Amino acid sequence: MDKTKVIVIGGGASGLMAAGRAGDLGCNVILLEKMHRLGMKLRITGKGRCNLTNMEELDECIKNYGTKGKFLYNCLAKFFNTDLIDFFEKRGVDTVIERGKRVFPKTGDADGVVNCLVGYTKKNKVTIKTNFRVSKIITDGPRVVGVEGNNRERIDGNAVIIATGGKSYPLTGSTGDGYMLARMLGHEIIKPVPGLVPLEIKEEYIKEMQGLSLKNIELTVFINEKKIDRIFGEMLFTHYGVSGPIILTISKEVISKLKHGTVSLSINFKPALSKDTLDKRILREFNEYGKMKYRNILKHLIPMKAINVFVMLSKIPADKRGCEMNREKRRRLITLLSDFKMTVKGPRPIEEAIVTCGGVALDEINPKTMESLLRKGLFFCGEVIDIDGDTGGYNLQAAFSTGYVAGENACRYHPG
Ligand SMILES: Cc1cc2nc3c(=O)[nH]c(=O)nc-3n(C[C@H](O)[C@H](O)[C@H](O)COP(=O)(O)OP(=O)(O)OC[C@H]3O[C@@H](n4cnc5c(N)ncnc54)[C@H](O)[C@@H]3O)c2cc1C
Repeated sequence: MDKTKVIVIGGGASGLMAAGRAGDLGCNVILLEKMHRLGMKLRITGKGRCNLTNMEELDECIKNYGTKGKFLYNCLAKFFNTDLIDFFEKRGVDTVIERGKRVFPKTGDADGVVNCLVGYTKKNKVTIKTNFRVSKIITDGPRVVGVEGNNRERIDGNAVIIATGGKSYPLTGSTGDGYMLARMLGHEIIKPVPGLVPLEIKEEYIKEMQGLSLKNIELTVFINEKKIDRIFGEMLFTHYGVSGPIILTISKEVISKLKHGTVSLSINFKPALSKDTLDKRILREFNEYGKMKYRNILKHLIPMKAINVFVMLSKIPADKRGCEMNREKRRRLITLLSDFKMTVKGPRPIEEAIVTCGGVALDEINPKTMESLLRKGLFFCGEVIDIDGDTGGYNLQAAFSTGYVAGENACRYHPG
């Protein structure tokens, strides 16, 4: 019997893994990438350091993909974090585990990860074509039989893997083409919306704090003033609102609640101090710097970039002296320090999201093989499917695991 010819559309994290794996099993593989270079998004992951995966146990790991996580069970069980680490270490990319069980390449260089994956495909004789944008998948009855490029060039194959990614960071090549290709073949697409995305804030004065980065703060999320979540960590103020790790983490929940009412966030700048201790600390500062102006005393309590906003919101004149402060003024300051409120306007656009939520509907894909349940010989992997994970390496692990499984099963697929 002739070798199965596998066509992989998209040379990102999942497509490179799928192509390499199918080639490894002896298939004839062609990888088509529309950009001039492979793995453009992968190169910017983890701020260029590439958070490859997470060392969480399988059952815990699955919780990081929300309610749809169980779809990934088979793929993760087949090729999980330790398999991925072995895969890279065997090919010369050593890894380190950092805070939150996050795994990175030891060199801290995402390009090295891409080079390793490209090396894997080349070693397995995968033919790579860059600057090739697939615009159509060709079918013969229920079967896929090839693809057609923008340039009308046709490539025949027995199996086709859609590994085109989501819709975010379009300059990396992920512009949502896979949704169009899958829809043309009858697949349902769950509306793509931003996930892990910065948030816009209604209060205009937030702009004054842009560039301010906060560590070890506590953030509480409210819907119609009812508390729904609380998280500790790092965040950042921007010209439109807020970003940074904890904001990205809560963004999905925030977006889902926005249609039900007003979502607000509250920062506790000093989560380690009780209100009493905080009051004593402020009193000490006011006593120690009795002759100093309020604005200058604030420098001892909060970052410089927050001072103007604190002066305005506390309604305490900037030139009031420390010795002129009374209990009421201290109370206003304590409220700002422990319960700094902001109202969420909405998410930033999908182009700025780290991941896309939505995509090819899961009930039309076989979770054991990643094959389409509608078309024979059609497979999916990576972000194009309706799965998204939290920050911490979960999205790349999903891309690699589904890529591995799709590559393997596409290679084993025989028409007829
Ligand atoms: C800034 C940023 C940082 C991130 N950091 C991390 C991190 O540290 N850890 C983590 O787990 N996740 C991270 N992610 C998410 C992660 O990068 C993605 O989930 C992952 O890359 C998805 O892999 P993929 O193969 O599905 O898609 P992609 O990596 O997006 O690859 C899809 C490829 O398909 C190509 N393509 C698209 N359409 C066509 C077409 N019609 N024809 C041919 N080729 C096509 C694209 O050009 C692209 O190369 C980050 C994302 C961003 C934006």
